[in-house]
Amino acid sequence: MKYVMYRAKGEPARPAVQQGDGLRAIACESLLAYIRLDSAQRQKAVTDMVMPANNVDFDAPLRPEKNVFCVGRNYLEHAREGARAAGRDLKLPEVPAFFTKAPTAIVGPDAPVRLSNIVSNEYDWEGELAVIIGKHARDVREEDALDAVFGYTCLNDITARDLQRAHQQWFKGKSLDNSCPLGPCIAGVEEVRDPQALQLQVRVNGLEKQHASTANMIFPVARVICELSKGLTLEPGDIIATGTPAGVGFARTPPEFFKNDDIVEVEIQPIGILRNRIVIS
Ligand code: MG
Repeated sequence: MKYVMYRAKGEPARPAVQQGDGLRAIACESLLAYIRLDSAQRQKAVTDMVMPANNVDFDAPLRPEKNVFCVGRNYLEHAREGARAAGRDLKLPEVPAFFTKAPTAIVGPDAPVRLSNIVSNEYDWEGELAVIIGKHARDVREEDALDAVFGYTCLNDITARDLQRAHQQWFKGKSLDNSCPLGPCIAGVEEVRDPQALQLQVRVNGLEKQHASTANMIFPVARVICELSKGLTLEPGDIIATGTPAGVGFARTPPEFFKNDDIVEVEIQPIGILRNRIVIS
């Protein structure tokens, strides 16, 4: 199933399951509340009430209460382009390099990404597959790790490259307000048989900038969950961004960054297209 948060005119956002052209209401406050239910309760929460999906807007499927977990340098070609652009030797990580993004960075599909030209002049894209955790998980084995997954969505790990360099620690340059577009839906695990067999594409104003298979991850989703959960409890509704492939702006010759009014799209089927307009002022 595909899960969304939708908003009818003037109403607060509500959770639903996408069904054909319609939306099947979920009797919960949010998708986060729904994901926190056990499986029997989840079944009961999906109602028979189907509404037309026209005239509604979609919000970010999740508004987590804690930081988004992220993996840096998880595709070989991206690690290589980053090392080349920084004039460093390529050194591959032996374990995933984790960092986080503040929950206040999250913004929904089709929403404007408002960024300040006083704070940064180097806003860059990073299309990523995001994992949504569905149950408490600690010290999970790699072979059991995918059992902890509720579903998958698209995420754009928008990064202020000048801040990332200046602060050294990545948190600040990756946590600005609106720097984490998420959506358009969460595709449940039953929709995504193999998270390592998905095509990930990023387009800016219709031009392809990134295109790779998730098969090229250095640490596959199961290994990422296994490593992150060592001595650290993952909870239902936690989000893990699994890293971006090659083709980011700063590593291009010459470097490219977002301009005001750019349209950026992150596409991963069967999840869909996460589309946002960049507004820099
Ligand atoms: Mg990233």
